[in-house]
Amino acid sequence: MYRFSRSIYREIAPAVIEDERDRTGCHNKQLVLDACEEAIRRLTRDRRYFARPARTLFNEVRVHFAINDQPRVWTVIDRNLGLALEFLERLPDGAGLDGVQRQCRAHTRRGTPCRREPLPGRDYCPSHKHLEETPSSAELPLETLEELSDDRDPHGRRSVHSAA
Ligand SMILES: [Zn+2]
Repeated sequence: MYRFSRSIYREIAPAVIEDERDRTGCHNKQLVLDACEEAIRRLTRDRRYFARPARTLFNEVRVHFAINDQPRVWTVIDRNLGLALEFLERLPDGAGLDGVQRQCRAHTRRGTPCRREPLPGRDYCPSHKHLEETPSSAELPLETLEELSDDRDPHGRRSVHSAA
């Protein structure tokens, strides 16, 4: 997958503006490369939750380019992320992606990311598959909500629904 971030980087790196005080002379290039790789990583792992990848990446790196170069930077980013998305769409689920592992979106009880591999076509691993949002679990039936609010009223007041 990183060939997509590399080809973005190769095209735009020569236009990166480096800070004169930066003795390494490549600090900002490194930031741009990191941002490109992070975008590809997110696209690969979480593309359903990454709505506008090209815009996000562009906004992140644009400060490192002259205004005159920004339109070309946008074109390069938009084209390559489009190709990366197209490539991902055509892959069968769970196919090996060079260098990027799909990861379960859940967190463990310690708060660290669960690193297990998600089920094919899902965002969660077998132990966390109950976290996957389904239309039926997203909404509780109305009666259940009213029962809950009655139970939680410490003064025995009726809810507005039953007082009417
Ligand atoms: Zn998990």
